[in-house]
Amino acid sequence: MNLFDEPYWQYAEAGELRLQQCVACASFRYPPAPICPECLTEEHDWAALSGQGSLLAWTVFHRQYFPDIPVPYLVGAVVTAEGPILIGNIVGLPAADLTHGMPMSAVFPPSTGSRRLCQWTSRSSLEHRT
Ligand SMILES: [Zn+2]
Repeated sequence: MNLFDEPYWQYAEAGELRLQQCVACASFRYPPAPICPECLTEEHDWAALSGQGSLLAWTVFHRQYFPDIPVPYLVGAVVTAEGPILIGNIVGLPAADLTHGMPMSAVFPPSTGSRRLCQWTSRSSLEHRT
């Protein structure tokens, strides 16, 4: 966490996935930064992302780093539909079901710790849950 990402966490608390977007050139800034790395503009919006993406890579953590998160757990890199690559927990399906490029959706389960986290699940597992 840094000086510039507090709005990210406030939106996440409300279940919204938003990233800094430059008002001049529309590029996303992730991680959040004081100026646009593309055009050096300071002004930005916190643009809502679609919450859709595809799975780029993943791994299983067997070592416990956080008391709130029991092991083993899955962490993946998801290429969002808008372009930025986000890292987050993968929930709702086992590692054996993951495939490269599978469609993923952002979810914001209720917080068990100090922050509500953007996590990812497969789009098909969301559609089957009614
Ligand atoms: Zn820019």
